[in-house]
Amino acid sequence: MEKIKMTTPLVEMDGDEMTRILWTMIKDELLHPFIELNTEYYDLGLEYRNETDDKVTFDSAYATKKYGVAVKCATITPNAARMTEYNLKQMWKSPNGTIRAILDGTVFRAPIVVKGIEPCVKNWKKPITIARHAYGDVYKGSEVKIPGAGKAEIVFTGEDGTEIRELIHDFDAPGIVQGMHNINGSIESFARSCFNYALDTKQDLWFATKDTISKKYDHTFKDIFQEIFDADYTKKFEEAGITYFYTLIDDAVARVMKSEGGYIWACKNYDGDVMSDMVSSAFGSLAMMTSVLVSPDGVYEYEAAHGTVQRHYYKHLKGEETSTNSVATIFAWTGALRKRGELDGNNDLMVFADKLEKATIDTIENGTMTKDLALITTIANPTVVNSEGFIKAIRKTLETLL
Ligand code: NAP
Ligand code: MG
Repeated sequence: MEKIKMTTPLVEMDGDEMTRILWTMIKDELLHPFIELNTEYYDLGLEYRNETDDKVTFDSAYATKKYGVAVKCATITPNAARMTEYNLKQMWKSPNGTIRAILDGTVFRAPIVVKGIEPCVKNWKKPITIARHAYGDVYKGSEVKIPGAGKAEIVFTGEDGTEIRELIHDFDAPGIVQGMHNINGSIESFARSCFNYALDTKQDLWFATKDTISKKYDHTFKDIFQEIFDADYTKKFEEAGITYFYTLIDDAVARVMKSEGGYIWACKNYDGDVMSDMVSSAFGSLAMMTSVLVSPDGVYEYEAAHGTVQRHYYKHLKGEETSTNSVATIFAWTGALRKRGELDGNNDLMVFADKLEKATIDTIENGTMTKDLALITTIANPTVVNSEGFIKAIRKTLETLL
């Protein structure tokens, strides 16, 4: 078979620990034999980030802006322990945070649904994609402990000195207050990313807030979504045969539990934090969860939802066998290759991405899987394989499909 050619490079962001090991295995076994891989490589491994004073992370994000599609391996976000372990010059920021700040996007997380790994919620048949707004609210809040009696107010002072004042509470005893904010521009980006992603994946979009209680704050989210939808998306949604549906957050939760899935659920920052852990654990495993950052101007960065699987890496370093699940990392590659194919009109690349995903799912459904899945599968007597064995098994299935 002739190798598939790529016209535009894909931005490749390598990472750390066990996922870095999987990264190379995936490329060697599942990609290089079939594709003349055209990537612009950035090493976001912690050692090289430290060596370049984290410049490499910024460069990789700018390259993503330039080329439009990136695939990212999981990376270490340094903490005190990592400072010593890697002898770091500084406690470098989370690469995902840096990239997100540059691309200004929304993160979409969707479970990879496989027969034999059944969701805890019986009626969920299709994936539920969570779209989490990643700016502001309680994550950028200011808080004060109120020591005793007194008046707490919100004060906004305009550049021209005009003041807006609003009473929070007239305290007669100790208590607490919190101030938080968001920016219309960020909410607009969030809305556009959600509408574009819904069109892209041909799924309905749900959005919910608590606008009946929060008549200015949450209501602004509701209004911005509706204004943008009415102005730019009504017709496009109609043509795609999908709908935009707004409801209250408590109503949304009730409907989600009774639904069969197959839609995107847009969530404000805090709701998305809470609900994505609920949805992902109910679907089975973080190792079966894809994650893509979509910027409002249509730039895509694909990754796995899990981290670098540090515990497995230390076993690997000791020469012990590991059984680490590479599905989410494989799907990061297929997502990026398919999107690259779509943007370049490269059908062969898109078909290859579909087949590699099918090979991965078929391999599991036929009973070969890593330890994490073997523990939760309903398939009787699964064949448990090690990290490399799993990727080799997928290669075998893939060859029968090509
Ligand atoms: P983690 O890497 O997601 O792993 C936590 C545990 O989940 C593992 O020990 C393992 O459980 C299980 N697990 C996760 N992915 C798995 C897979 N593919 N196959 C099998 N089991 C899997 O989280 P962490 O250990 O808390 O974080 C490690 C590093 O990752 C940290 O330095 C953190 O900063 C970084 N991180 C990066 C990202 C990112 O780049 N997107 C996201 C989160 C965390 P068992 O040990 O029980 O087998
Ligand atoms: Mg969380």
